[in-house]
Amino acid sequence: MNMQEQMNRAEESILHTYNRFPVVFERGEGVYLYDTEGRKYLDFAAGIAVNSLGYHYPGYDEALKDQIDRLTHISNLYYSVPLAEAGRKVLNASGMSRVFFTNSGTEAIEGAIKAARKYAYQKTGHAGFEIVAMNESFHGRSIGALSVTGNEHYREPFEPLMGGVRFADFNDLESVKAQVNDKTCAVICETVQGEGGIHPASKEFLQGLRALCDEKDILLILDEIQCGMGRTGHYFAWQAYGVQPDIMTCAKALGCGVPVGAFVLNEKAAAMSLAPGDHGTTYGGNPFVLAAVNKVFDIYEKDGIINHVQETAPYLEERLDDLAHRYSCVKGRRGMGFMQGLVIEGRTVSSVVKASLDKGLLVISAGSDVLRLVPPLIITKEHIDEMVRILEECLDEA
Ligand SMILES: *Cc1c(COP(=O)(O)O)cnc(C)c1O
Repeated sequence: MNMQEQMNRAEESILHTYNRFPVVFERGEGVYLYDTEGRKYLDFAAGIAVNSLGYHYPGYDEALKDQIDRLTHISNLYYSVPLAEAGRKVLNASGMSRVFFTNSGTEAIEGAIKAARKYAYQKTGHAGFEIVAMNESFHGRSIGALSVTGNEHYREPFEPLMGGVRFADFNDLESVKAQVNDKTCAVICETVQGEGGIHPASKEFLQGLRALCDEKDILLILDEIQCGMGRTGHYFAWQAYGVQPDIMTCAKALGCGVPVGAFVLNEKAAAMSLAPGDHGTTYGGNPFVLAAVNKVFDIYEKDGIINHVQETAPYLEERLDDLAHRYSCVKGRRGMGFMQGLVIEGRTVSSVVKASLDKGLLVISAGSDVLRLVPPLIITKEHIDEMVRILEECLDEA
């Protein structure tokens, strides 16, 4: 089958919920993907901020293969060898207190919502407490996660959603204060909004949220699913703000390519929320995915992945700022570390994404007008130069 036939074959059976780009990928190497016809693509999408170590990072495959040879799944009724290490590694990186492993980001959000509700229930004996979420946010597609996602287009067909959610404007502390009342149990936001268009929280906003939550004894939930695991030059983006969440959600790059997420609680939230019987998962944190998580943390430490992001991100920012300066269709740049967005004006983002694909560069969109760059964290200046060269060709065509 050639590539077109493979795409046609897939479309005959797969429910049409994605308008996929016309390419069939077969293998990856480093920061490049190859399609079934042998074409090479520089990957600045990383499977939507998942493949932070690129493809076949030394030692990663071996760790997974070794675990497959031992054991892949046993359920959470028993302990496993990887479980003994993985929790500790997440807590070391975050300075938090307890972790629950899930299969996805969405499920991490569900768990965080339940933990916040339970905290309020423990405190005063009333369930059904309210959550304040942000406009333009994204937290996932399940009914609970969708309920705190501030995007009408995603929400509308599925209403009524979970009740008790109020929306405020991101980076507008007063608008959050206006939604908080004596029924509020938590405020949830991304530290850096991803799908909504790469908006980092301002320092005043995040510090203000922390102070507000402390004052009202409500939980601050920070969604680090996209911006966490080193992408911003810190293990977790909130570490750049001098602010700690009560609950954090993590996924995407946590396993660098295996389906794993987590919600992580500080001591206060852990002590007064989910107890035996309150929450569970069959697959969540099985030995196979946790072997990946353990190897990811080992590689990050041994090879200084986060240092590399800190050292190399200024060059990426400089090159992107230069593009914004030279091209009238690039209105500006936003982002932190290796999570960057270019605001595109005068042509559609999808046309730039498509033109890049045709020239062997993978980039993605965020929101309606942002070109999103979330490369593997192992890219070098040479890869950045190569990306800019291809993007320039695409923008020149405009
Ligand atoms: C991707 C994402 C999610 C959902 O994660 P899934 O693994 O797709 O369920 C939630 N929050 C943020 C910020 C995300 O980027």
